[in-house]
Amino acid sequence: MRHIEEKLSTPIKYECDVLVAGGGFGGISAALAAAREGKSVILTDRGFILGGLATAGLVTIYLPLCDGFGRQVSFGLAEELFRLSVSECCNGKRGFANWIACDDKTKRGEGFPRFEADFNPQIFAILAEQRLVSLGVKLLYGTVAVAVNKSGDRITEVIAENKSGRFAISASSVVDATGDADIAFYSGVPTKSFGQGNVLAAWYYSNTGENGYRLHTLGASDVPDEEQAKGKKASARLVDRRFSGLDGEEISEMCILSHAATLSDLRKRRESDPSIEPTTIATIPQLRMTRRIDGEYTLGTDEMHKRFDDSIGMVSDWRKRGPVYEVPFRTLYSGAVKNLIMAGRCTSVTDGMWDIMRVIPCCAITGEAAGIAAAISSDFTLLDVTELQKKLVSHGGVLHENDIKT
Ligand SMILES: Cc1cc2nc3c(=O)[nH]c(=O)nc-3n(C[C@H](O)[C@H](O)[C@H](O)COP(=O)(O)OP(=O)(O)OC[C@H]3O[C@@H](n4cnc5c(N)ncnc54)[C@H](O)[C@@H]3O)c2cc1C
Repeated sequence: MRHIEEKLSTPIKYECDVLVAGGGFGGISAALAAAREGKSVILTDRGFILGGLATAGLVTIYLPLCDGFGRQVSFGLAEELFRLSVSECCNGKRGFANWIACDDKTKRGEGFPRFEADFNPQIFAILAEQRLVSLGVKLLYGTVAVAVNKSGDRITEVIAENKSGRFAISASSVVDATGDADIAFYSGVPTKSFGQGNVLAAWYYSNTGENGYRLHTLGASDVPDEEQAKGKKASARLVDRRFSGLDGEEISEMCILSHAATLSDLRKRRESDPSIEPTTIATIPQLRMTRRIDGEYTLGTDEMHKRFDDSIGMVSDWRKRGPVYEVPFRTLYSGAVKNLIMAGRCTSVTDGMWDIMRVIPCCAITGEAAGIAAAISSDFTLLDVTELQKKLVSHGGVLHENDIKT
């Protein structure tokens, strides 16, 4: 391949305390948490709507905050954003009736829907935007983080591009909420990609006279190799191909296949219901797991019910009732770059655990901790974890399984 040499002189257009790259659930949570600590926060997203996969990707099922046996395990911003997501738009499905609309605790355990809900992506995106703007967060849409400038083991600026051109944002701490660990990768932090690759997904909404507004979840889920080795069977795939999500050409091919699968599904449905119309298709690639950091600690599926002194909150397993994991702060950063922290689906976990940690409530848990950490420190290897934990608890967080009040 031929190369050209570019000569660049990049203006430092913005300065802030905390820069959040990526505005999915990880980034929204991080920006909210950092702004509530009184810091100046800039959030950049390559798209033009907040929520990432959960809104532009039409993944509108807020998976459980509970363990499936009646105990809520995820709190803080994971719960605040859950309530925001259903505040103006609940269609009453899943756990709304027994967890949100009714206090009867006898209706929350086994045999009942879990603490989860369907939400409307457009309303959530606007409500989240208004909440961030009201806290003074500067939102830069259509702004892709493309590189970093470093001094030793610290990021001094993140380089971004948007309609105005190429510019730098200087920040004391940086939260990587890109979902793909882009900033970590640009900074030279050790990363790992998802060995198994992603199956094709094509989630879309339709409307019909008969069935109303409806989500279709083609390529609904995958089973990690780790679980398949234990005998769990994966469902049929839309195409016999997997996607890393880290190659521009491959992502484009994946989107084209996803669009084709949508149209073909729609045509099939039209045979029995001629009134069906697609109302929304995803405007972001529906990739579950791509790249993550290889951080100070890597959490695995066998560590359920284990106490971690540096826990920043808990998550459950959306796939089955029972397992609860405390999330160690050390899964959010690598000592290789001192002022960079991860939020959302790119923290340090094994491939099997990734399938648990990638979902919405978990992204909010890591996002909130990353945002507060970025507000109180710019060297995560030296951060006083007790101070971070105190702040998380003061905002409603619960850190250890033993601390859950039943
Ligand atoms: C098909 C599918 C089904 C799923 N089903 C569910 C489900 O039912 N329930 C559930 O809870 N979870 C589900 N998930 C997982 C969940 O939706 C996501 O993992 C989660 O929303 C990720 O949040 P995030 O903030 O980490 O990342 P993302 O939502 O990916 O957000 C990252 C954001 O960063 C932006 N960005 C990326 N790179 C850059 C860059 N370089 N510069 C600037 N901005 C950038 C993107 O535009 C995006 O807005 C599903 C995922 C998929 C793909």
